[in-house]
Amino acid sequence: MSKPVNTVLTIPRPGEVRLVDRPYPRIIPGYALVKALIAPICIEHQIYRDHTFEEDSNDAEHLGHEGVGEVVEVCEGSRFAPGDRVIVYQGKRCGKCVPCLRGYSPTHCELHGKIGPDRAHYSHERACGNNSGGFAFAKYRTVPEDMLQRIPEGLSFRHAAAANCACGCTFSAVETLGVATGDHVLVAGIGFIGFGIVINARYRGAKVIVLGRNPYRMEMCRRLGAHHIVNPDSPDWQQQVREITGFKQGVDHAFECSGYPYYQQRCLSAIRQYGRIYSLGFVPGSDERYPLHVLDELLNKHATWTGGHDVDVNHRDRLLTMLLDESVQRSIDLMVTHEFPMSRAAEAFEVALTKRCGKIYLYPHEEPPNRVH
Ligand SMILES: [Zn+2]
Ligand SMILES: [Zn+2]
Repeated sequence: MSKPVNTVLTIPRPGEVRLVDRPYPRIIPGYALVKALIAPICIEHQIYRDHTFEEDSNDAEHLGHEGVGEVVEVCEGSRFAPGDRVIVYQGKRCGKCVPCLRGYSPTHCELHGKIGPDRAHYSHERACGNNSGGFAFAKYRTVPEDMLQRIPEGLSFRHAAAANCACGCTFSAVETLGVATGDHVLVAGIGFIGFGIVINARYRGAKVIVLGRNPYRMEMCRRLGAHHIVNPDSPDWQQQVREITGFKQGVDHAFECSGYPYYQQRCLSAIRQYGRIYSLGFVPGSDERYPLHVLDELLNKHATWTGGHDVDVNHRDRLLTMLLDESVQRSIDLMVTHEFPMSRAAEAFEVALTKRCGKIYLYPHEEPPNRVH
């Protein structure tokens, strides 16, 4: 029998995908080895086009962070067992810093988060002594056990795979702002993060206004249940938002999903007095900044502007409850527009770049996992 290997997706140069074999990864206590069954595409199509990387977060041979799979190996004393179906959350927890102690998102951990010196995913590989397995675009992943969550009976891999950057980080965003039934929510700059906000806001009974231009994506928002679509280029776009929101004269919450000042400015204009903004979008490698007018835009408006990445650990159980909801599952089925075996990832990235798509799933083992298990 040939020695098992780990097949890993690489992007050696813009516009080129190559699958390469690495030694089968080992695990140390505290880690589980997971057979990756679905690896959703997040921002990797931009890397495929531009070769622009997030510093210390990815490179040409270390890509992907979202996924679901099946545990294949654990160390003695593990609370997991081979065969367990799991969601893999991104990041790593030091367990000592404020974000870790309070159960916030590990992407903001002082040690392993985006500002930390020992960045997660690379840290997984270093800790286990491997040169693969830390990232999602691979057949096998090495994952700290506290970054795994069992998928309950009755939840398919396909629906569970929305727990990362589609419905998961957006769950934490709407929860952080406290979106409630009847609130007006503005979603600005629509990609799959925007779709995730629409799904979460509808699940909470909010009134959803989408600010966007791409006809394909606007139609998807309608099908996901957005109540109003407003074109941000219309000279009267703000008037339209004011009419929709009535006496409030603006939205309660705005979610900025693009990272561009064009939409950041519109979010600040669209919120009501004491309104709140949550930024989820960013443009890798861009130095473009929003010229915030502190008096007019923050103080006089009494605005709150926050932002963040990823799913808070404290939110994982309620996120699962949401993913078990049948109307949410129907929305995920609409949102996931394309699925490809990992060997055809170049086609998947090309589709993503057309923006005529929702979320795209890759299958690292080439075959889709059983839908309901
Ligand atoms: Zn992501
Ligand atoms: Zn920490």
